[in-house]
Amino acid sequence: MTDYKIHIIDTQYHGPLPIATFLVESSKGLVLVETSAHSTLENVKLKISELGFDWKDIQHVLLTHIHLDHAGAAWCFAENGATVYLHPFGYNHMNDPSKLLKSATMIYGDLMDYLWGTLKPIPADQLVIVEDGEVINILGLDFKSIHSPGHAKHHIAWQLDNHLFAGDLAGICFENGVVIPPCPPPDINIEDWTNSIDKVLAIQEIDTYYITHIGKVTGDLIGHMKKLKKTLKEYAEFLLPYFQNQTDLNQTVQEFKRYTMDSLKAEGLSEKQIKDYEDSNSAIGSVQGILRYWGKKLGATQ
Ligand SMILES: [Zn+2]
Repeated sequence: MTDYKIHIIDTQYHGPLPIATFLVESSKGLVLVETSAHSTLENVKLKISELGFDWKDIQHVLLTHIHLDHAGAAWCFAENGATVYLHPFGYNHMNDPSKLLKSATMIYGDLMDYLWGTLKPIPADQLVIVEDGEVINILGLDFKSIHSPGHAKHHIAWQLDNHLFAGDLAGICFENGVVIPPCPPPDINIEDWTNSIDKVLAIQEIDTYYITHIGKVTGDLIGHMKKLKKTLKEYAEFLLPYFQNQTDLNQTVQEFKRYTMDSLKAEGLSEKQIKDYEDSNSAIGSVQGILRYWGKKLGATQ
C-alpha cells in the first residue's frame, strides 16, 4: 500500500466564501483535489511551497465539480501538463469554457476578474472523464468516483480509503459544526442531493469528510448529513409558497435571509458566526437555485 498524507490548504479566497484545496502527498508524487478559483492561484502556489513542494510537480488534479470556486484554476495546472479527472457532464465546459465564462460574467460583471479570474480551455487529451463507481489508480492510490448529483449534476465525491473528498455534497460547515447547503442555480435538485447523501452514508468505511467550504469533518457523520438533509428540505419547503405565489424576488430574498438567520440563531451561533454563514452562502443564489428547482419540478408557472 502506498503511504500518503492529506494537506488541507485554505486558499485565502478574498471573497466571502472560504475555499480549500486538498494536496495528497504520496511517496510517489502529488495529487490535488479541487483547485479553488483562478483568483487564488498565487496563494495556492505559495502554500504548496510552504509545505515543501513545487506546484509544477502536480500532474494529477481531481475535480468534484466544475463550479468556479472548485475548478476555476484547473486550466493552469493543465497548462503545466497535469491531467484533470472529472464528471462526464463537466467535460464540455472544461474543454470549452466560453459558455461558463459568459454566464459567470453575466452574473458578476466587472467583479468577475477580481472574484474569479478567468478560464481557458483544457485540451481534450488532458481531460479524463470518470464514471460512477470507477476506481482510478493515480501514483499508487485508488480514488473511487461517486457520482453525487444534487448540488450540481456534474458532482463527484472522491473516496480514498476511509476519506471522502466531498466537494459541496456535505454542505458548508465551519468549526462550530453547523452545516448549511449551498444552493446556487442551475442544477439544485433536493431529491438527488438527498439520495447522494444516502449513497455515501452507505459506504461503511468512510470516517472523514474533506469539505471544500471548509475543512475536515469526523465523528458523527450520520448526524452531520442528517442535519444537512433536514435544512435542505426546510429551505425548499420555505420557498415553495414564494414559488407558488410568484412573490417578488427581492421580497423573497429578504424573507429567506431573515428565515435562515433565525435558524442559525436557534443553533446558538454568535452574530459574527451567523454573518460568516450568511456571507458564504448568498441568499439570492440559494433563492434562485431553489426556485429553479421548484420550477423544473412543478412547472414554470402555477
Ligand atoms: Zn462550492
